[in-house]
Amino acid sequence: MFKNRNYVYGPEDRYVPAKLNAGEFILEKIWQFKDTVALINGATDEKLTYGEMAQEAMNLAVSLVRLGVRRGDVVAICAENRREFWSTVIGITCAGAVVTTVNMIYTKGELKHVMGITKPTFMFCSPLALKVQAKNFRSLEYVKKFIVYGDEKIPNMLSYNDLAIAGPASKLSQHVKYEDFDAVDVEGQNDLAMILYSSGTTGLPKGVMITHLNVLTASASNVERPSFVTLSITPWYHTMGLMSHLIGFVKGRTTVYLPKFEVDLYLKTIEKYQISQLTVVPPVLVALCKSPSKYDVSSVLVIFSGAAPLHKETIVAVHKRFPNVQAVLQGYGMTESTLVVTININGDKEGSVGQVNSNTIIKIVDPETRKVLGPNQNGEICIKGAMIMKGYIGKKRQDDFDEEGFFKTGDIGYYDDDKYFYIVDRLKELIKYKGYQVAPAELEAVLLKHAGVRDAGVVGVPHASAGEVPLAFVVLQPGAETTEAELQQFVAERLSNSKHLRGGVRFVEAIPKTLTGKILRKELKKMAKSTRSKL
Ligand code: AMP
Repeated sequence: MFKNRNYVYGPEDRYVPAKLNAGEFILEKIWQFKDTVALINGATDEKLTYGEMAQEAMNLAVSLVRLGVRRGDVVAICAENRREFWSTVIGITCAGAVVTTVNMIYTKGELKHVMGITKPTFMFCSPLALKVQAKNFRSLEYVKKFIVYGDEKIPNMLSYNDLAIAGPASKLSQHVKYEDFDAVDVEGQNDLAMILYSSGTTGLPKGVMITHLNVLTASASNVERPSFVTLSITPWYHTMGLMSHLIGFVKGRTTVYLPKFEVDLYLKTIEKYQISQLTVVPPVLVALCKSPSKYDVSSVLVIFSGAAPLHKETIVAVHKRFPNVQAVLQGYGMTESTLVVTININGDKEGSVGQVNSNTIIKIVDPETRKVLGPNQNGEICIKGAMIMKGYIGKKRQDDFDEEGFFKTGDIGYYDDDKYFYIVDRLKELIKYKGYQVAPAELEAVLLKHAGVRDAGVVGVPHASAGEVPLAFVVLQPGAETTEAELQQFVAERLSNSKHLRGGVRFVEAIPKTLTGKILRKELKKMAKSTRSKL
């Protein structure tokens, strides 16, 4: 009956609508800005207004229901950042279905793994994704129909334009009036709006169940900000890109986006569109600070960094590179928390990930004894609140949540006397390469498939520009003459770019393990620090 003095409580200021459909909520908000430009493709100058985004979302929702999509069905999106993406997200959720987003450059094995978790019945894809994945898509037998973006007509596939852009030529879509539109009823506290993928504290990527209520709470932020023009580069399939955009849309923000990160184009775009806010992962900031200053970047006032640790030296370099930046703001969160659980709104105490976000409670717990700790003590960050996922698909809740319902993040941190949080280490296995998740278990499983490998253990090692890179310890089969380069190549052929063994391979006699066979990653990390131990 009493508050715990060592828990840190965020403000309770997020109010959600009675009808808990996240898609409908976002649609209502963006309709208020229908004449404002929502998105600009920085590479082509193509623009999309909020009115167009909302109209296509409503048309699409109606078309999807007509095609047989039902409440709870999973619909996938596999595309680079492009204009149709957001109408698709809003349209699917308004239809009561569940959005799942897929990294376009996944290898066949990676794609089959994540799609096998959610088994979508429909999949939206771009022509580029189709080019990269055509063969792999054929192996997803549960997908009944593919819906392709762009003008090209592909045999046996539906066209997004036909479903979302009503015109005289379209037999499938109708122009839906905003006043007449009503999203499908959902039970927002239980029904899923999204399933994203994360390896969590251990093992292979899992399906993270994000409810409508989670998305609603994350996007119903009251924080009013000046109308910054934002430059977006984070991939939209990942929670940081996905949720930070939805929140920006709800506020009517204009976002300039680029399909991929190239330093020169990025800096040129800042100058061209007089960008005032950058949303980035730390490795992008490192690259920007190291590039020659050919362009005028004086319009940049705020930089928001998330998804991985941001070092103090980078913050210092950022202030030199961007003279008018008032603050480098940091947020800390994870796929499982929908968005940030702490945020440094004002930019005071640079280096801190800020204070507890709204509608969230954090406690710091001793990882051994599970005792709740007070200020200035390092422990596992545990979180509770309306933005925390329902759970992982197919996993028992008690594996990842404690008896009080707090999610165990696997991150180590502390808060100071002013309740500002600092992230100091990671208890969980996860490696972050340029902000991308790399699950060691995935690399180990691939290495074990190699005929010359008897055992393997993978850890992250610090890297100046990428944050961390994966390093493998390998025990060879007796007599095997497998080389480092051979194993690096073997992994590169089977896993996407961020998971390549950039940290190298070290051959050892045994992988340190507990009596129950769990890899002792702390030991591996110590071994990684020691000099190369090739046999
Ligand atoms: P993801 O689910 O891919 O967003 O990864 C979440 C993980 O990234 C967290 O559990 C942390 O380990 C790490 N992370 C996210 N934000 C930060 C941050 N600001 N500082 C340090 N680590 C972070």
